Amino acid sequence: MIFCVEDERNIRELLVYTLTTIGYEAMGLDSGKELFRALANERPELILLDIMLPGEDGYQILSRLKDQESTREIPVIMVTAKGAEFDKVRGLDGGADDYITKPFGMMEFIARVKAVLRRTGKQGEPTVLKYASIVISVNRREVTENGRKVELTLKEFEVLRYLMENRGIVLTRDQLLGHIWGYDFGGETRTVDVHIRSLRQKLGESGKLVETVRGVGYRIGEVK
Ligand code: CA
Repeated sequence: MIFCVEDERNIRELLVYTLTTIGYEAMGLDSGKELFRALANERPELILLDIMLPGEDGYQILSRLKDQESTREIPVIMVTAKGAEFDKVRGLDGGADDYITKPFGMMEFIARVKAVLRRTGKQGEPTVLKYASIVISVNRREVTENGRKVELTLKEFEVLRYLMENRGIVLTRDQLLGHIWGYDFGGETRTVDVHIRSLRQKLGESGKLVETVRGVGYRIGEVK
């Protein structure tokens, strides 16, 4: 999934359309506010970020993305209007992976997107996480337990993925909440417990691999 943050509707639709025709999933968002709302539900492979936006501008959004652990790793391409002074230093030192100047040709645009995805390793082989009887295909969002396919909700999947990525480490309820539901989610830590319970049930025999560390949080497995 690629998020396209752009307030000019024509450009936004063109970006989404172009990406879709070459086989990417893409979603248009018209402000930083919408972006952070979408990020609470999904982690994209790439964010295209316009600079002049209503509300927070692209630089401010970039710095928020890079400040948060849950979004820091997402590659960002800044999109800047020609003639407008683009502060390369501010953009690239701020953590952007590349920048594109509007108006741009579609071939150039596609080439830049592919180059960043290639460089950041977000495209290519599917990422697989394994522990004992549990196997997760991150790209395909598939989970199997002893070879049996397990149907998880998006949040259950993210909880399992985060635990597997941090194998052997106890994650607190607050860490899980912050990482999966986002820093501005006004939820309670009980939300985490509810998801863990249903995740264990769905994992059947392997549910016991999701350990409760009393008074602290949850963990899967031992450190590799
Ligand atoms: Ca704009």
